[in-house]
Amino acid sequence: MPQAVAAVMQMASGGAPHQVVTINATILYRAARDEHFRRIINAASLVTPDGMGVMLVAKILGTTFPEKVSGVDLADRICAACADDGCRVFFLGAAPGVAPLAAEKLRAKYPGLQVVGTQHGFFDAHEETAITRTVQAARAQLLFVALGSPRQEEWIAAHLGECGAAVAIGIGGSLDVFAGRVRLAPEWVRRAGLEWAYRLAREPKRWRVTLTLPLVVFLALRERLAHVLRERFWKRGN
Ligand code: UDP
Repeated sequence: MPQAVAAVMQMASGGAPHQVVTINATILYRAARDEHFRRIINAASLVTPDGMGVMLVAKILGTTFPEKVSGVDLADRICAACADDGCRVFFLGAAPGVAPLAAEKLRAKYPGLQVVGTQHGFFDAHEETAITRTVQAARAQLLFVALGSPRQEEWIAAHLGECGAAVAIGIGGSLDVFAGRVRLAPEWVRRAGLEWAYRLAREPKRWRVTLTLPLVVFLALRERLAHVLRERFWKRGN
């Protein structure tokens, strides 16, 4: 988390626009199947592991991460850092009224935080130009995009250049959490890596989403096995 926050703050200080993705099992599974989406993820400047599924997959493929870096936690820490160094942030997404409330609560939590604009996430394609102009006019350095996945990753890839912000991060339902509309799982549930179960219990309709967790683990095991077999037999044969 400290490395991720430092990297984002460095990116926010200027230069070419950067996309940041916090990847969970659902995003990973989509990326494995959808080439256009995979290109977007692979082109991102920073991708952080958001959940046990991704941590497990990484381990199977030989990479370990020191800790999980979820969208909501990363956004919270970045807001704290922005309050300290005056970085200007913009909140785009969630239902009407949620982003201003999230801004108000975060300003109370981190005095000095400059939220230079908000925009709800229920807009039509013909409103997009006006929205990117608003972000640009606000001179936001850091744009938080809470439209849900894959829309937020695709939106950032298509529009970040027009927004003038140095960094954009997809943060899913985080604005609802900051606004106090949705509660995070209790700390012990999060620490045990059982957030997926908590969410499934609260929103049973999302069972298909939960299914992506064993699916990405299966894909990783298959890839690992293919790698081991290649090493054993293909190399020996050459
Ligand atoms: N949302 C939005 N516009 C839409 C659809 C969704 O702004 O057209 C918002 C929604 O209000 C919520 C967030 O996007 O705040 C998606 O939250 P969710 O927890 O479903 O995200 P995910 O599971 O994809 O991270």
